[in-house]
Amino acid sequence: AAKSQGRGNFQFFEAAMNAATHERLLMENRLWQALERKEFELYLQPQVELASRRVIGAEVLLRWHHPELGMVGPDRFIPIAEESGLILPLGEWVLQQTVDLLSRWKGSLRLAVNLSARQCSGVSLLPLLDRLLRESGIDPALLELEITESAAMQDPERSRDLLRELRARGIKVAIDDFGTGYSSLSYLKLFEIDRIKIDRGFVKDIESDPNDAVIVSATIGLAHSLGLGVVAEGVETEAQVAFLRGKFCNEAQGYLFARPMPVGEFEALAGSLPVPA
Ligand code: C2E
Ligand code: MG
Ligand code: MG
Ligand code: MG
Repeated sequence: AAKSQGRGNFQFFEAAMNAATHERLLMENRLWQALERKEFELYLQPQVELASRRVIGAEVLLRWHHPELGMVGPDRFIPIAEESGLILPLGEWVLQQTVDLLSRWKGSLRLAVNLSARQCSGVSLLPLLDRLLRESGIDPALLELEITESAAMQDPERSRDLLRELRARGIKVAIDDFGTGYSSLSYLKLFEIDRIKIDRGFVKDIESDPNDAVIVSATIGLAHSLGLGVVAEGVETEAQVAFLRGKFCNEAQGYLFARPMPVGEFEALAGSLPVPA
């Protein structure tokens, strides 16, 4: 009986596996089609300078509108795009769209784009960026690339060279989700960067959790001592703003200021942008 039950469990497991694999393949196919069918859209979340409370730029956050599934968030599709290789053409599309916006805006606002691990380890990123910068003529300092610690640490030597090359071109580099990796401090030692983004997991409870308050405060101090700028992620309350301003955190981003929004809305909000031709 035990044996047949075991076999039954296995069959059940197998069926569940097949369903999961099937679902995965289905999503992968939908994703490839999505690029051709133009189902992706850039959303922008404002980044605010804390001292002046002015919008100084935005982070680019990808959205996928599927005709039946509706709006699918990046946490659901970026990992699949990454594994299937779609992230390369998709990431290229995101960068192209971003550079187009920067060139239309003619100055002043910065845009930050998330890079995936595969984009960092591949050979196509630098030639792509060189072409985009040449064709658009934008100020490279208005383009920021966000790299997570875990993406960079997959191949630290290579990432170090990549970041150096990016910065040699005048492109800004930020560490995303700072503090959530295994070796945040070695990252600071190893890589040349411009800014760190304190993960929202630390920001969330700065008012109530004394440990988080100390960690955030020390991280800002450390960054400044190294000559780096600091952006706090996931800011949702005025009390968090008061704390961060008190520690001289440079910039913040979060639902308190604005949720990620379509480009048109951001342009209206940021005001003085030149009207597109
Ligand atoms: P991330 O780069 O750390 O982006 C910040 C995430 O936090 C965004 O989620 C944003 O909507 C969310 N967020 C911002 N402010 C708040 C807040 O006050 N409270 C809370 N609870 N959340 C807030 P989103 O847009 O779902 O993106 C998730 C992740 O997907 C991003 O994390 C990034 O790693 C990835 N991603 C998004 N767009 C791209 C892309 O174009 N390329 C790549 N490779 N990854 C992307
Ligand atoms: Mg990011
Ligand atoms: Mg982040
Ligand atoms: Mg994240």
